[in-house]
Amino acid sequence: MALAFDEYGRPFVILREQESKSRLRGIDAQKANIAAGVAVSRILRTSFGPKGMDKMLQSPDGDITITNDGATILEQMDVDNQIGKLMVELSRSQDYEIGDGTTGVVVMAGALLEQAETLLERGIHPIRVAEGFEISSRIAVNHLESIADEFDFSAANIEPLVQTCMTTLSSKIVNRCKRSLAEIAVKAVMAVADLERRDVNLDHIKVEGKVGGKLEDTELIYGILVDKDMSHPQMPKQIQDANIAILTCPFEPPKPKTKHKVDIDTIEKFQTLRKQEQQYFDDMVQKCKDVGATLVICQWGFDDEANHLLMHRNLPAVRWVGGVELELIAIATGGRIVPRFQELTPEKLGKAGLVREKAFGTTKDRMLYIEHCANSKAVTIFIRGGNKMMIEETKRSIHDALCVARNLIRNNSIVYGGGAAEISCSIAVEAAADKYPGVEQVPSIYLKERVECGSHLLNVSHFFVGQYAIRAFADALDALPMALAENSGLSPIETLSAVKAQQIKENNHCCGIDCNDTGTNDMREQNVFDTLIGKQQQILLATQVVKMILKIDDVITPSEYG
Ligand code: ADP
Repeated sequence: MALAFDEYGRPFVILREQESKSRLRGIDAQKANIAAGVAVSRILRTSFGPKGMDKMLQSPDGDITITNDGATILEQMDVDNQIGKLMVELSRSQDYEIGDGTTGVVVMAGALLEQAETLLERGIHPIRVAEGFEISSRIAVNHLESIADEFDFSAANIEPLVQTCMTTLSSKIVNRCKRSLAEIAVKAVMAVADLERRDVNLDHIKVEGKVGGKLEDTELIYGILVDKDMSHPQMPKQIQDANIAILTCPFEPPKPKTKHKVDIDTIEKFQTLRKQEQQYFDDMVQKCKDVGATLVICQWGFDDEANHLLMHRNLPAVRWVGGVELELIAIATGGRIVPRFQELTPEKLGKAGLVREKAFGTTKDRMLYIEHCANSKAVTIFIRGGNKMMIEETKRSIHDALCVARNLIRNNSIVYGGGAAEISCSIAVEAAADKYPGVEQVPSIYLKERVECGSHLLNVSHFFVGQYAIRAFADALDALPMALAENSGLSPIETLSAVKAQQIKENNHCCGIDCNDTGTNDMREQNVFDTLIGKQQQILLATQVVKMILKIDDVITPSEYG
């Protein structure tokens, strides 16, 4: 810092940029970054798999979240370090693209970083490590394709889909009800799926939760659920074949935009005004009745006068319905949102087979079910549970299950879970490593050579790849089954080597870690699947992030005392 004076003699301070920055270079930078990435992944490692532990996180305003979902843990952890943030981003992209496997991807990246550190310590250049990892990831991804199985299901036979969703749910807090929740998730996805185009729009599945009841009471509603009740307690609680007017205009006399003064000095004048007001309400209700509406859903409120009149004229109504819900109701019932009473026509009414109001427990909590709608492609999953935390965690678990079912409808290839796919890839990558030159060999002999890798040919003539990096990648793949074994209370190294030996001996890529102690480690028998695209994405994303971290050799950060 230096003090200087301008031409008028005013003092100012010159801050030297470099002094206020701290800097890490070369191998120190890489090691610091690796340490940060590994630290984040170690946090998630214990949450991985069906026997993984849960984390409790408290937000600054005191809200508590208990979860097992990798993306959520990282999201709420408030990571300060830049590399730590990259890991958060990694988990988020897996969540965004695939929806499941958010813990696995971070554990995989952490394992790769640990391996990279050992290689750097041995003096291998980071770029070579990165290239070795890239080649290995392609070998692994191709190998996954070769061991993937086709997965048969149809609208009539959804059992295989339910089984896969159960695998996802088995590692969550809600695994007590995994069968019923998996069924709900699959039925919801099938209801909105377009099986011909193999497409699922998850926006049409609304997930709602209400504290109370048991997790077992969670239900699938073929329609929309609105957290509102009829505006008057004496209105009917159930309407068959409802014609719904969806309004964004209030039930009240129009208000003039400019200020007016009304002088009322006689009783007659007051009564005329009152009559006129009543007439307004009457006209509005009449308009709704004329077009054939049997239920009015209104974005705004209406005063007691209108409410009473609606009840009196036998036109049930719901008030204060939010904009998003209004839109969903319009989509589901095939109706149109009407901004003015004059525009109300019979074609704009939405149609629903049954609208009913349901009360919960002993409280005054009521909800409105709009079912059997004209456009059946909108469903709601209504979650019940003892407390808010449970409901929030169930929502996240259901989201994962919905994503898994959607991924299978898009692409019905599966690989076996419980670490079976990773072990099989690890064996394949290890075998491929033997074909590559070692670090001690002269690279020039391999110039212009094409090395076969899986089903693809990779041209490695322009760079030299140390087989160490490829072997390290195979070891990193082993880290996932090891974490599964460790979290289930098994001895990680022994269990892994036994399963690996079995895979090689029996040439069976379905052998994995028997986390639940069922007596068989054949994941095909245990029905533990993961989607092929999910697993491939995990390997690709983790490799990309690790490569990115390895290529950073200069870290410039503002110093704390700058
Ligand atoms: P993620 O957030 O990555 O999905 P999870 O904690 O849900 O992480 O764990 C998923 C892993 O657990 C997958 O690799 C899956 O194969 C494995 N898994 C799930 N159920 C079982 C089971 N019953 N036996 C063995 N492994 C299982």
